[in-house]
Amino acid sequence: MEKIQICPGCGLPAVAVKAEAVKYNVVESLQGLINLKNKWSVCVNPACDCSYFSNTLELSTKDLIVSLFFKDKSDNVPICYCSNLTRGEIKEAVKNDCKSIDDVQNYTKKDITGMCEERNPLGKCCRNVFLRTISDTFNKD
Ligand SMILES: [Zn+2]
Repeated sequence: MEKIQICPGCGLPAVAVKAEAVKYNVVESLQGLINLKNKWSVCVNPACDCSYFSNTLELSTKDLIVSLFFKDKSDNVPICYCSNLTRGEIKEAVKNDCKSIDDVQNYTKKDITGMCEERNPLGKCCRNVFLRTISDTFNKD
């Protein structure tokens, strides 16, 4: 088992993340500082400004080229980062009778997938969050 890392900003347990996702999502000026051999973690506490950190480097949410869907609940934040498909676009699609991921992708014409390991800020597939966003929108009506 990997040791759970503690966020230096808020002191809460963080989630391990692939270095490739860190490198892809930081602003260009910081990319040279991202050592792919380091262990990286991401703080998922919505109230904390820290984003990624390693033993030697701590980044804030402002050091990234994207907004983090688990820290920023606004509608213009991506849920699917491969297609830059936002929370607001998914809500809009659901209100127009889309009921599945396929429906939403067809409706929005944003159906690029398969780059999650790099583009998604958690380095994971967006599928679960995508499904939850669809069901949350249903449950609000
Ligand atoms: Zn934190």
